[in-house]
Amino acid sequence: MVVTRFAPSPTGFLHIGGLRTALFNYLWARRNGGEFKLRIEDTDQSRNSAEATKAILEAFDWVGMDYDGDPVYQSDRFDLYRSYIMKLLDEGKAYYCYMSKEELDALREEQMARKERPRYDGRYRDFTGKPPEGVEPVVRIKAPLEGEIVFEDGIKGTITIRADEVDDFIIARSDGTPTYNFVVAVDDALMGMTDVIRGDDHLYNTPKQIIVYEALGFKLPRFYHVPMILGEGGKKLSKRDGAADVMDYKRAGFLPEALLNFLVRLGWSRGDQEIFTMEEMLEHFDPADINASASQYNPDKLLWLNAHYIKNSSNERLAKLLEEFGVYLLSHDKREILLDIFKERCKTLKEMANQIKEVLETPKEYDKKALKKAMKGNAVELLNSFCNTLKEAEGLHLPTDYHALVERFVKDSEIGFGKIGMPLRVALIGRLGGPDLGDVMSIIGKEESIGRIEKLLQYMKETDA
Ligand code: GLU
Repeated sequence: MVVTRFAPSPTGFLHIGGLRTALFNYLWARRNGGEFKLRIEDTDQSRNSAEATKAILEAFDWVGMDYDGDPVYQSDRFDLYRSYIMKLLDEGKAYYCYMSKEELDALREEQMARKERPRYDGRYRDFTGKPPEGVEPVVRIKAPLEGEIVFEDGIKGTITIRADEVDDFIIARSDGTPTYNFVVAVDDALMGMTDVIRGDDHLYNTPKQIIVYEALGFKLPRFYHVPMILGEGGKKLSKRDGAADVMDYKRAGFLPEALLNFLVRLGWSRGDQEIFTMEEMLEHFDPADINASASQYNPDKLLWLNAHYIKNSSNERLAKLLEEFGVYLLSHDKREILLDIFKERCKTLKEMANQIKEVLETPKEYDKKALKKAMKGNAVELLNSFCNTLKEAEGLHLPTDYHALVERFVKDSEIGFGKIGMPLRVALIGRLGGPDLGDVMSIIGKEESIGRIEKLLQYMKETDA
């Protein structure tokens, strides 16, 4: 049985690096029919917030990653940690250290003056004397004095740390609260983790955690330390690149499956395949195939994937999702044609909503540059004349009906298409670009098309005056 977990510290929003780690753990557990657990690492009360926990759960919900059982909160487990600290003290595997901060600072300075790496010197390790008065001791664990700590990382290979690089580190502070590396090791062991997949910023915590596992007689999981995601120019991923809140992607109009597909490919690959459905990820993902070097965040790729998933979504689903962006099409009579057109053109739901609004709503204003470009020469006259043609025409329903009308007009007036195409665009949607004119007119209908053209003509009259 494979058991994995995601263990965020709720100090802020869930960012995409975190979501990728969660996804890797999720996929590996589910692929093996195992369990995926969520543990909220909220021991540092001063840095944690309930909102951050809520935001993490909300992001999980959005992407549809389910975890087994209830989330485990470390803040509920202080008694448990305490009991394991007492056990190590009783067994002589940990000890009270009464060294004051001043003494520790002095030691550090001496060591640095001798060009040694600062480390605790073990002075209370075998202490049997009378403890100094008025000092609340910390608890330190007995780290091995010689040899090496060796473990096999599933991504980075064999990691070897000399014992003298790890000192007797603190497992409980003087106020009794347990430290990070201690609680992570205790929890991972008690929660039955078989595989720990996490960011490689934790690589050098692992030897310390191994010391805790060994002192408590726990079985070690397999470790996989995932290289980080780099932003533009190979720099650390910044807020601008996308280190921001996962929920910002929802607000920007991304589909969760596009984001997950994007993330699985950041550091993991299978041949040159780019598109992975959840089923395919579940079939093929193996943390042993994660790349040992850092991956690069590529916003264009995310847009490309999102466009793919939008194109392949049902209109029903898109109509529901677009409601969050202020577009209500569920019972709109032009729903199918609108969505068929825009799902082919748009890279995000937000873009789609904006473009659909442009079509459905009479323009409130006109793009200045477009006006200047489109309304040159005899444009007003032509638009006027097209308006009359439109008024007289009958039996206009399909986009092709409107196309034919425009084409005939172009031919009869002996003009280039742009001469009427551009003014018409500005009249209908307020700018140049946008979807096919025939599509637009067929969606809004003859009356509304006439209304919009007249509105622009009126505007031209007023601004000319
Ligand atoms: N709580 C840690 C973090 O958010 C992760 C610990 C772990 O995965 O072992 O970085």
